[in-house]
Amino acid sequence: MEAIPKSRNLGDSTPRDLLTGSKRLLTTRDLLYQLGASIHGMLFDRQNLGPSSGRIVLGPPGRPEFNLGRYLAHNVINLATYGYLGLGADPRVKRAASEAIEKYGTHTGGPRLLSGTAPVHCQLEQYLAEFLSAESVVTYSSGYGANVSVIPALFGPGDLVVLDRNAHRSLYDGAMLSRAAVKRFAHNDLGHLEYILRRTADVRRRLVAVDAVYSMEGHLAPIPDVADLVHRYGAFLLADEAHSIGVIGRTGRGICEHFDIDPGAIDIRIGTLSKAIPSVGGFAAVPASVGAILRYSSHARVFSAAMTPGDAAAALAGVEILDKEPERVTQLQRNAALFGTRLAGHGLDTFGSESALVPVRVGNRIATLDAAHSLLERDVYVNAILSPGVPAGSERLRCFVTSAHDPSDLLLAADTIASIVDRARPHVIAAVTR
Ligand code: PMP
Repeated sequence: MEAIPKSRNLGDSTPRDLLTGSKRLLTTRDLLYQLGASIHGMLFDRQNLGPSSGRIVLGPPGRPEFNLGRYLAHNVINLATYGYLGLGADPRVKRAASEAIEKYGTHTGGPRLLSGTAPVHCQLEQYLAEFLSAESVVTYSSGYGANVSVIPALFGPGDLVVLDRNAHRSLYDGAMLSRAAVKRFAHNDLGHLEYILRRTADVRRRLVAVDAVYSMEGHLAPIPDVADLVHRYGAFLLADEAHSIGVIGRTGRGICEHFDIDPGAIDIRIGTLSKAIPSVGGFAAVPASVGAILRYSSHARVFSAAMTPGDAAAALAGVEILDKEPERVTQLQRNAALFGTRLAGHGLDTFGSESALVPVRVGNRIATLDAAHSLLERDVYVNAILSPGVPAGSERLRCFVTSAHDPSDLLLAADTIASIVDRARPHVIAAVTR
C-alpha cells in the first residue's frame, strides 16, 4: 500500500490540494460558487474528500489521526464527533463486537419480530432496562428509526403531538408520519406549551415531545416542570435522551438523574446507542404495556432488519462500562465545564449550553465555514452548523467535549477557537450590514 506522507499542518496545503481526486467535489464547486456558498462547505462533507480508496479514517475522540483524503494525514483535537465517553476504540468493546460476530455472524438476516433476534439483543434490552430503571426497553437499528417508529405506533389520526420548536428532526418526522395533528411551542417556553395544552383539552390523546438535551444548543429541557405541566393536562411526555444518557446525571443515567426525579416522570424515554454508547442503534424505555405494543407494531421493529449482533454486543459492552465506571461521566462533566468556562472567558457566546455539547456563535454561513476551515488548519476539528439546520444568523460551530479529551487540549482548542472567531466577527458584521 502506498505510504501517506504526513503533514503536521494543513497550512502546508491549499484547499485545492484537498479537492484533488474528488470528481464530485470539482463538479459541484461551480454550483456552490453560484449559490454564494464557500467551497469550504464541500470540504466538510466528508464523503467528498479524496477518492473512495482514501476516505477519511477517524479514530476515537481525543487526538486521533485525521486522514484528509489520500495524501494528508495529521493529528487534530477532535471536537466534532459525539463519542462522549471515548469508548469507540475501547478494547473491551471491540472484543465484545468481534466475539459476537464470531458467534452469530455479521447479521441476523431479519427484522426483530421474525428471524432477527439473537440472544445478545435480549441481553442488551434487559441491561438497558435495569440501568435506566425502566419496565421495558425496545431497541431499534438507529435512534432516528426509534423516533419515527415509536410515535406512529402509539399516536395517530385524532391525536395531537406537541413538539418543542428545537426538537430533533426525527421527532418531527415521527410526528408527521403518525398522521396526528402537530403543533410546536417556542423553545423551552412552558407558558406557550400550557397555552397549547389548555386550548386542546378536547383532543383524544396528546403527546408532548422534547429533547432532554438539545442537539444544537446544549440546553436542557426543564423536565420536572415540563412533566408536571404535561401530566396536569392529562397528556403524555416523550423525552429524547440522545445527548443526555452517559452525559448528565451523577452516573450518566440522564435527565431524570440530573434533576433527581423518578424516571417514571417521563412516559417514553428515547435513546441512541451511537453517542455515549459506542455503537449504532436506538431504543425506547417505556412501561411494560407500551413495550408490548412497540414490540409487535412499531414499524422499524417489524419491517426493518435488526441491529447486527456486533453492534448489539458493542452497545451492551458500552452500557456495562458506563454502569461500572461512572468516573468517566465525572471526567466528561469536568471537561465540559473547563471548556465552556474557557470559551466564556474569551467572551464567546455559547448559547447558554449546559451540557457537553457546546456551540459557539459565529452568525453567518460563510464566516462559520471559514472559521471551521481555519480551525482545521490549526488542528482543531469542529462541526460547522449552518442554516437551514439552525435559524439564519445563528450559524455556529458545534463542539462535543468527551471524557477522552486531555484538559490541556481543551484549553488549547478553546483559545484557538476564540482567536479564529474573533477574526471572523468583523466579517459577520460586514455581511449583516451589507
Ligand atoms: N435524537 C437526537 C436528539 C439526535 O441528536 C440524534 C442524532 N443526531 C438522533 C435522535 C438520531 O440518532 P441516531 O444517530 O442514532 O439515528
